[in-house]
Amino acid sequence: MEFKEMGLREEILSAIKDIGFEKPTPIQEQAIPHLLSDPSDLIGLASTGTGKTASFGLPLLNYIDTGNKSTQGLVICPTRELCIQITKDLENYSAKMKGTNIVAVYGGTDIQKQIKQIEKTAHIIVATPGRLVDLIKRKKVKLSDVDTVILDEADEMLNMGFKEDIDSILEKTPQDKCIWLFSATMPKEVSQIAKTYMVEPFEITVGGKNETNKNIVHEVYQVKEKDRYAALKRLIDFNPNIYGLIFCRTRRQTAEVADKLMADGYSAEPLHGDLSQAQRDRVMSKFRDKHLQILVATDVAARGIDVDDITHVIHYNLPEDVENYTHRSGRTARAGKNGTSIALINTKEGGKIRSIEKIIKTEFQHKKLPDPQNIIAKQLFQMITEVKESEVDEAAIEQYMPEVMRQLGEFSAEDLVKRFVSVEFNKFVNYYSNSSDLDATGSSSRTSKGRSDDENKNRFFVNLGKKDGLNQGALLRLICDNSNVNKDAIGKIDILNNFSFFDADKDITELILGKLQNIDFEGNKMHVEQTKSGGNARKNTGGQRKNNGGRRGDFSKKNDGPRGKHGSRERRRKRR
Ligand code: AMP
Repeated sequence: MEFKEMGLREEILSAIKDIGFEKPTPIQEQAIPHLLSDPSDLIGLASTGTGKTASFGLPLLNYIDTGNKSTQGLVICPTRELCIQITKDLENYSAKMKGTNIVAVYGGTDIQKQIKQIEKTAHIIVATPGRLVDLIKRKKVKLSDVDTVILDEADEMLNMGFKEDIDSILEKTPQDKCIWLFSATMPKEVSQIAKTYMVEPFEITVGGKNETNKNIVHEVYQVKEKDRYAALKRLIDFNPNIYGLIFCRTRRQTAEVADKLMADGYSAEPLHGDLSQAQRDRVMSKFRDKHLQILVATDVAARGIDVDDITHVIHYNLPEDVENYTHRSGRTARAGKNGTSIALINTKEGGKIRSIEKIIKTEFQHKKLPDPQNIIAKQLFQMITEVKESEVDEAAIEQYMPEVMRQLGEFSAEDLVKRFVSVEFNKFVNYYSNSSDLDATGSSSRTSKGRSDDENKNRFFVNLGKKDGLNQGALLRLICDNSNVNKDAIGKIDILNNFSFFDADKDITELILGKLQNIDFEGNKMHVEQTKSGGNARKNTGGQRKNNGGRRGDFSKKNDGPRGKHGSRERRRKRR
C-alpha cells in the first residue's frame, strides 16, 4: 500500500514526500492504516530502525487538532537522545501542518525553558519518564485531555527501571486514552504493562518476536584476551569507511579503548556516564553529523542512540546480559539498510555466542581476522579513491604552485604518485609489517614478516613483490650490486605478493637506504624503507586519518516548507 492510499492528511503526505519517504516500511504499512481507522490500543513489536517513529508519528499527527491548545498526544521514551530524535521527526512530519507544537521534555537540561514551551502550547509532548514525573509533580503539565499515549521502546524503559514512573504517568492520563506500545522484545514486564493498562490491544509484529533485523550480518572473531585491542584495530583498518559503534562493558574500558584509538590516530571518542551532559551532547552531535567515525560507548550511554547509516556495531566485549546483544546490534541496518555486527570473543566465550544465536535465531559467521596484506591493500586503494575524488581548489592553491613546482618538478609523474601515496601508506605498511597472527582459533600459523629476529640486523621494506617477478635471488642481487655490500650482511628475505622484506646488518642501514632507491627492476622502480620495530600500536601508525568521516554527507531531513491547513479530528475511543 502507498502512503497516499492510507488516509493521511495532504500536509503530512507532502511533508514526508519532501523528506524522501517513497514507500512505507513493513511496520508503517501495517500500523498506519490500522491506526487511522481504529486508534484504540496497539502493540507494535519492532526493533529500532524499522521506521516505527513514523508508524506511530504519522497517525498521531493526523489526529491532532491544532485549533485545540491542549496536550493531545504523549510520547514516552527511555532516553534524552531518543526524545530529541522523535521530536525532530515529528516536527519534520508536521512541517506543513500550520501551528502544530511539539515539545520535548527530558532531564539534564533547564526545566524552566521546557515549562515555558509547554505553557505556550504543546499539542504533543515527547518525554523521558523521570522529567515528566517531575513536571507532573510541579503541576506544569496538564494531561487530562491526552487521547493517545505512546510508549516507545517499552522494554528499554523497564530495563532502565522506569516502571514506577510509567505507572504514575499513566495514572495521570484519562481512563479512555489509547495506548500504542512499541517494543523490540516482549519480556514479561512489558506484557504486564499491557495487561494492566491496555484493552484488547491489536498486535503488529515486524519480523519474529525477539528476532533481530535480517539485514544484519553477525560475525565473530576469536582472539586471545591480550590481543583484543590489536584485533579491533585490524577490523577498523580493514573497513576504512566504517561509521561504527563500539560497545564496551564498563565506563573504564570505554574510556581506555577510546583513548587508545584516539592516540593511534583514529576518529574516535567515548560516550559513557562519567562524562557531563554537555560533553555527551557534543560527542553525539559530532557523531550524528559524521564528523566522528567511531563512537565507543557503554550499553547505558548508547541507549536510544538513533543514528542512521551506522555500518558496524562492534562488541569489544559481549554484553553481560546476552539479551542486550539484540539492542546493541539493532543500532545498525536501520531502515532496510545492511549492517554488520561484530563480536570479539576470547577462547572461553564460545558458549555465549551459542546463547546469543538462540536468541537472535541466526548463526554467527565465524571469521578470521583480516590478513595484514589485505588490510594494506584495502587502505591503499581507499586512499587512491580519496585522491581521485578530492576536489582541487584552484584559486587557493594557485599562489603556492610555482614553489611547489620548483621543489617537485624534477620528479616523474610515477615517482610523485608513489611519494604522495606513501606519506600515509607507509604508516600502515610499517605497522602491519610487524604484526603477527592474532587469530586464536588455532588454524593459522603465519609468522611475523616484518620484524628481524636478529638483534644485529634491521628489517627493510621493498615495494616490489612476487607479482613484479621478484624472488629471493633477484632481490639479493639487486641489494648487493647496487649498494656494494657483501651478501653475508643480508639476512632473512621474505617475498610477498605485492612487496617484500629483508634483514641487513644495522651498520649498513644508511648505505641501503641511500643506494637502493629508484632502482629499475624489470621496468618497475624499486624503493626501500626501514620498517619500524616493535609490533604494538603506535601513535600515527596504523589508524585512519582523522576527520575523514564527514565524507558521507548530511542526511538531515529538516523541512522548512510552508505549513498548510489541517482537517478536523474525529476519532473513536474505547471507553473503559
Ligand atoms: P525509526 O525506526 O523510526 O527510527 O526509523 C529509522 C530510519 O528510517 C529513520 O532515519 C527514518 O527517517 C527512516 N525511515 C522511516 N520510514 C521510512 C520510509 N518509509 N522510507 C525511507 N526512510 C524511512
